[in-house]
Parts: sequence; structure tokens; C-alpha cells
Amino acid sequence: MSSTNKHRRVRVLLPLAIGDVYDYRAPEDLGIVLGQFVTVPLGRREITGVVWEEALNSDFPEARMKDILDILPSPILPEDSRTFVDWVAKYTMQRRGRVLRMAMSVPDALYPKPPRTGYRFTGHQPDKLTPARKRVLEIAAEGPAFTAADLSNLAAVSSSVVKGLAAQAVLERVHLPSEKPVMRPDWQRPGSRLSMDQDAAAKHLVRMVEQNSFDVSLLHGVTGSGKTEVYFEMIAECLKQSRQALVLLPEIALSSQWLSRFEDRFGTKPVEWHSDLSQAERRRNWRAVIEGRADVVVGARSALFLPFPNLGVIVVDEEHEASFKQDEGVSYNARDMAVVRGKIGNFPVVLASATPSLESLINAQSDRYTYLKLPSRFGGATLPDVHIVDLKQHSPGSQRWISEPLREAVETTLDSGQQAMLFLNRRGYAPLTLCDTCGHRLQCPHCSAWLVEHRLVKRLQCHHCGYTAQTPRQCPECEAEESFKACGPGIERLAEEAEMLFPDKKIATIASDTITSPRAAAEFVGAMERGEIDLLIGTQIVAKGYHFPKLTLVGIIDADLGLAGGDLRAAERTYQLLSQVAGRAGREALKGKVVLQSHIPEHPVIDAIVNQDEEAFFAYETSARQDARMPPFGRLAALILSSVDAESVSGFANLLARSAPIAENFIILGPAPAPLSMIRGRHRYRFLVKCDKAMNIQALIGNWLKGRKVPSNIRLQIDIDPYNFM
Ligand code: ADP
Ligand code: ZN
Repeated sequence: MSSTNKHRRVRVLLPLAIGDVYDYRAPEDLGIVLGQFVTVPLGRREITGVVWEEALNSDFPEARMKDILDILPSPILPEDSRTFVDWVAKYTMQRRGRVLRMAMSVPDALYPKPPRTGYRFTGHQPDKLTPARKRVLEIAAEGPAFTAADLSNLAAVSSSVVKGLAAQAVLERVHLPSEKPVMRPDWQRPGSRLSMDQDAAAKHLVRMVEQNSFDVSLLHGVTGSGKTEVYFEMIAECLKQSRQALVLLPEIALSSQWLSRFEDRFGTKPVEWHSDLSQAERRRNWRAVIEGRADVVVGARSALFLPFPNLGVIVVDEEHEASFKQDEGVSYNARDMAVVRGKIGNFPVVLASATPSLESLINAQSDRYTYLKLPSRFGGATLPDVHIVDLKQHSPGSQRWISEPLREAVETTLDSGQQAMLFLNRRGYAPLTLCDTCGHRLQCPHCSAWLVEHRLVKRLQCHHCGYTAQTPRQCPECEAEESFKACGPGIERLAEEAEMLFPDKKIATIASDTITSPRAAAEFVGAMERGEIDLLIGTQIVAKGYHFPKLTLVGIIDADLGLAGGDLRAAERTYQLLSQVAGRAGREALKGKVVLQSHIPEHPVIDAIVNQDEEAFFAYETSARQDARMPPFGRLAALILSSVDAESVSGFANLLARSAPIAENFIILGPAPAPLSMIRGRHRYRFLVKCDKAMNIQALIGNWLKGRKVPSNIRLQIDIDPYNFM
């Protein structure tokens, strides 16, 4: 070997917000391979990163080159995961280090846990058998081996008792495996007998897994048609092929019903991934994924960044849900990125929904996606009848929200022993509280938003930053006493009205602030199933996937609510949400009924819901988007500038505007103060960028921003394909 040969150099990607790749020397004895987790020096720190690529033309001076220090005892970050990080970073216009950070969200998991020590009863008796010792030995005799912590907890003694017994060789030390084993789902258990439609859809999905190639299917089935049963068949096939499966659900923490169904089908729960896991669970699950021991993972959007070495299918359930879009930090849409991940890994992806997004429907229509339709509810359950109540004719009266026809329907339902639900997408008591004397509105001090009164917890809350305060007795403006008045309804206020109308019924209110944990969700589901609730009053949280056989009436208090506000997807979201809510009614033998209150029954969206005319809605919305060249017929991106200093942010926004590139069909709207012009004390300006579908919006924005330094007191957030326009 010639002595002029330079040492091998590699580029290491560091999981830092500002991070990208840095060159390091790869000492020969370490045996560096791409994808390895390694520690490297950075300034005075030591940081863990990933060996990303060979540094072939590195011209960094040899003298200043630093060595990779160590390799972490973990499997490598698989090549597909690395390609995915690169892809997402480029698409979302974020630093790669920032995206890598999402794939390395559990740094501890890079080190295997040290083996645990267990204690086993040897059969020898101790010199003195105290009651505490006796309890320990009784428990120790029951199992092969326990940790000292388990033994002392179970026997309710201090750990010194266990240690003492070990010292006398009454207990002996043994090695326990370092990780609790992950249970493996059993694909050989029989699934449900499928209907003809279900079977046809399942056959296609199973074939795609067998072929082991990229394909996207849109599984479009009305609520209750059995989409879950269908994609379970695909997961079974994936398990049979010894590959891993990932299911993304929008509200995984609340999906106790889904988890039990999975367990019924496969004999064990899947591996979960969401923000409600403990640190120890996150560690265990991340490690199980990268070691290929997690066969099926069900998770929130961030599960896409788990380091699967052998992924064979992704299911995105409720694919239309806006919560798949993350709009802070790396703003990505997990539904779209799931498709990208499938393309990279060369495996099938399924998007399932009763009310697919317009984007996915158009992709199915143009044959980019395979369209699988389940047209009817399983087992002959029929879709509910929808009745409209025109609020212009049936006004509930001042400070009231339940019209007479709706009241009658609820009464009839409850009197026959069935359950009913009232839907209103507004948390708290009232959306606005104002002074009756001077009209002063209670506003958040940190946001340009009203404070919402929550009577149950006796607080005012800002729904944007979480600020809370007590309702003041005196108006801060005119000093009038006890003069605050609630305006409009929230679910708490609606519950008051319902209690008046149905005094002897059991009424419960459910919102995201009352159901905050998997346990709370499971308790709520249990109470509904046992009939401990007659009338349920809830926000959109009740629209999601629940299945209550005795719930036969759904009342929609204000169908028009979501239509206002000038959001690109306002009509689509209203249609989806109301259809999903309506889909909660009458899911089994009992026929369901929906009563929908509206001031504008003639609006095409309301009309389409009443007539359950999906195609009419689709046609209406498609032509509206086409005319406006809005997604999916054009591209959109938002640039949001924010700062605690109002002047510098508006100044910088105007400066940017002056250097905006001029290109045909590339339109920049703004800068304008954002509709929420202040959040958490930060002043916000927005640009909305729009261009043709064929244009590369990232490149155009990149050129615009090139060489322009964002002042350090200003934050620039780029949001490609925005869902949030506030
Ligand atoms: P979706 O997800 O389309 O709303 P689900 O998969 O939740 O529908 O199915 C609705 C109900 O019908 C569930 O209780 C499910 O167990 C039942 N079901 C669906 N398909 C079958 C089948 N092939 N055999 C037995 N039960 C089924
Ligand atoms: Zn606020």
C-alpha cells in the first residue's frame, strides 16, 4: 500500500437543527460502514451522528481532520431510512439534521440495555425466617427469577431483605434477558369471513404484498364497511412474508377499540408509537423496530421515521385527516410521505377512508392509485337517514341551540332506550365572553385570539397558547361589576341546555381536553358500551372511528360552522367531518338517524351531505379547486415570519417582498399580517406562494431566499402544501 494514500474519509450527518454533514476520518480499525451510529467530536462536544456517505472529494486539510471516535452498539440506520431523511428534507426545505433528529428521537436506544440480574430461590433456608423473608421466599418460589426491585415490591419489603437472602445463598443471582421480549402477532389465526366486496379488495392488497412492489391503493368504504378487516388481511400476508407492517392512525392514543380488534385478530397487541408512551416504552419500541423484532407498529405520524430494516406495507387509516399534517418544525404530511416511503422501500401503501381527501380521489381517478371501493356497510347495516332542520324556520330561541325537531328526535331515541349524540365542534362554555356594559372582549394577552370560558374548570383559556386566567369579576375596561356575558355556544353550554330539556337522562360531554389519555378514552368507551351514558355531547373527537351499536341518533348543532373562514379545505373538511359524525349513527342492526341544523340548507356542501351524494360533493369541490388552480391542481407553500419585535418582522417581510422573483404563473400573495397576527407574543406575517403543478416550488422559493440572511430575532417557517392558513 502506498504511503501517500489518504485515510478514508466519510460524511457524518448530525441530528442538529442547523446540522448537515461533516467530514471525518474513519479509522481503519473501527471498520466503518454507511448507516452506522457513531460518536464524533464537534467543537468541544461529542455528538452522535450517522455515517451518511463516503467523502470522496473531501478537500478539508488533513491536519485539521478529526477522527470518528466510536461506533455505537446498535444496528445501522437502514439505507431506506437514510434515503427517506434526504427526501423529506429536500421536499420540506429543511436541514437534513433536523429531519434525522426525528429518526433518532430516542438517543438512549442506541445503547443496548445492560443485562438485568434476577434472583432465584435455591431451596436453602435462611438462618432466621423473619416474616419479611418469608414473604420474599413465597414469591420467589412462584417464578423462575425476579429482579430485586420486583421481589421487594411484590413482597413489600426493602431491597436489603433481598440482598440479605442473596448473601446467605438462599437466593442465587441469574442473568435475565436485557429486554422484555416483544410479542409476535400470529398471522395464522383465522380472519373474519369477508363479504364479496371486502374479499375483492383484500385480494388485491394481498397480491400487492406478494409481488412486493410499490403500489398505492385508495380503500374507500363508507363508515362501517369493514375497511379494517380488509387491511388486516394485507397485514397478515405481510407477516407471512416475514416483513414489518406500519399502520398510521390519527388519534392512536385514543384508539383502544382498534387495538382490541387487532388483538382479537392476531392474538397480541401491536407495538405502539405515539407521544403518550413512557421513555422506557419508547426506548424498547424503537429498539424492537431497528432490530426487526417489531412486526406490526401502529403509530402517529412520527412513526414514519422509525428505523424499519424490513418494512413491507404502510396503511394510512383515515387518510383524509388534517392531523397527519405537521405544521411546526419540519412541516410534512405523513400521508404523502408514507407514499414516498413506499416508493423508496418498494412496497405497497394503502390509504383508507370513508371520506377520502380530494387529492387521493383525483389520484385514484387518474389511475395513479388503485381504487378499491366498499360500497355498503357490513352485515346489511344501512346508512342513516339525514334530516335537515332549517334554523331560519325552526329557531331554537335566544341563547338556545337545540331546535324543536331535534329535541323531539332526541327524546324519542332516548325513550326507546337507545343512545344519542349532539355534535358541536367548540370546546368550553362559550367561544367569546364580553362585557355587557361596554362590549369589551376578553382577549389572550399573548395571542390575537379571544379567551374561551371553561366553566367546568372555572378558567378562561386561550386555545392557541394554553394561557389560562380566572374570569375577572370586574371589567378591565369600564370597571362594571359582574357584567360578563357568554356569547355563542360551546359544548359545556350545550350540555346545560340538554340537562334542562332531558333532566332525567345521563349526559356526558367529551372533548380533547377531557379525553387526554388512552385510559380516559377507554373509560369513555366503556361507559358508552355499558349504557352509562344516554346523551353524548362532543366535539370532533367523537367523530373518529368509534363504534357504538346502540347509538342511533346524531344531532349536528351547527352544520355551517366549518364553512366560514376562507380556508382552502373548509368545504372539504366540513363534508368529511359531518359525514364521519353521521357515520357514528346506527352502525349495527338499529337504523340510524341524523338531524342536521343549518342556516344555509341550500349550500351545495350541506345539500350533498343531506343527500349523501358523495359524487355531487366531489364534482363541486373539484371544479372549485380547478378554477382557482388550487391543490391538487396547483402547488401552494406558505412562508411564515415571526418575531417578538413587530417592527423588525414587518420590515423584513417587506424586504423579502421587494426581492420576490417574477416568473410566469408563480404568484406571491403577501406579506400580510397572519389571521392570527400574534401567537405566544410573536407577531406573524405570511406569504402564500402559488404556482403550476408542473413547477418546482421548492427551487423557486430556494432561489428567492438564496443569500438572504434571516435576522436572528426573526423565525422563518416554510410550509410546503400548507393545511393551516391562520
Ligand atoms: P370501517 O373501518 O370501514 O368503518 P370496520 O372495519 O370498523 O368498518 O367494521 C365495522 C364493523 O363491522 C366492525 O364491528 C367489524 O368487526 C364488523 N365487520 C366488518 N367486516 C366484517 C366481517 N367480514 N366479518 C365480521 N365482522 C365484520
Ligand atoms: Zn394565547
